[in-house]
Amino acid sequence: MSHPSSLSDAQLDTRLQHLGLADLDPGTGAGPVAQPSVRTSTVRFRDLAALDKAQALKSQGERGVTYGRVGLDTHAALEKVFCELEGAQRSFLAPSGLSAITLALMALLSAGDHALVADCAYGPVRYLDKIVLSRMGVELSYCRAQPEALRAQLKPNTRMLYVESPGSLLFEMLDLPALSRFAREHNLVLVVDNTWGAGYIYRPLALGADVSVVAGTKYVGGHSDLMLGAVMASDPAIARRINDTHYAMGYAVSADDAWLALRGVRTLPIRLKQHAANALEVCRFLASRPEVARIHHPAWPQDPGHALWQRDCTGSNGMLSVELKFDQEQARRFVDALQLFGIGFSWGGYESLVQWVEPSSIACHGYCEAGDNAVVRLHIGLESTQDVIADIARALDAAA
Ligand SMILES: *Cc1c(COP(=O)(O)O)cnc(C)c1O
Repeated sequence: MSHPSSLSDAQLDTRLQHLGLADLDPGTGAGPVAQPSVRTSTVRFRDLAALDKAQALKSQGERGVTYGRVGLDTHAALEKVFCELEGAQRSFLAPSGLSAITLALMALLSAGDHALVADCAYGPVRYLDKIVLSRMGVELSYCRAQPEALRAQLKPNTRMLYVESPGSLLFEMLDLPALSRFAREHNLVLVVDNTWGAGYIYRPLALGADVSVVAGTKYVGGHSDLMLGAVMASDPAIARRINDTHYAMGYAVSADDAWLALRGVRTLPIRLKQHAANALEVCRFLASRPEVARIHHPAWPQDPGHALWQRDCTGSNGMLSVELKFDQEQARRFVDALQLFGIGFSWGGYESLVQWVEPSSIACHGYCEAGDNAVVRLHIGLESTQDVIADIARALDAAA
């Protein structure tokens, strides 16, 4: 599709609606709006010269397609969208958010290397460490993601700082520019899980990160119906390592899932605005209740990360955690009494979700002083907040 030459100067919201549309048929001058799902396992070539050209691109680490695994137009369009979102030169698709994390770590760490990992990062990273990385001779240390704490755990072989901001369960805002300075000072590659920001409300590469990882499963997809991940980078040497590891490890994403993500991303801006507005309204309600000890949501003015959020983020989303003056039994009763909230992991779909947070899973966060309070994580969906708040009120009463 031809675009006014000004598209590259247009606002992100505009570009998100115009990137990766289907081409017009040169004969009829017509075509659909949406890129179709181009499913293929094999790529066929007009002649050997065309194949050679693709091979040459591929051997330079560029997007040269010689086989179906990397995908054709649908995948290429989604890669462009991720680059646009994250302000990256290259993006690589993975079949889930966790496999995107695996890709970044496998590409950038070698046997004998040590990496510092924020203690508030997505829990399954510890499982990847325990089951795979430790066996491959890579050592991870978990640490509060602040320069002084990190410095104390540096080793001569430390190569990477891996963080997630805000944190996975309590949404602790990290000072990414400060962490980036620390990483540069010690020659560490800084990898950030940006699933919370979805590349839209938070842009780690612009704040000094080398690599951004996103679970597209969440807000990018937005409809709780696909699994997808992406790894973004701009530095050519880093991108090359990710490119080659992506190929070597056989990563592949279904064209239909890439298509769903492309479809989802068009409404990412308006969905995030609505999720954020709904979550703030729920925060205001929660703050009025005597059972509530503390709210973890960086857009909430009382959150300790609020100033960093104001400085570094351009919006918020539907995620919040709430500390309740309940014992664990009451907290479980509260979760079971909610009717509009699905009990489940994940987030980013249109529906509200609740997760009872096991005390052991946040005890390892250096930031957490939940003490005896029970912690429940909520994803505030796109339902009417009147109904959502009435549901929470009813469940609080039932649990008390
Ligand atoms: C869900 C999630 C992931 C993993 O994504 P999947 O697609 O479920 O594998 C990674 N990081 C964060 C912060 C997540 O919330």
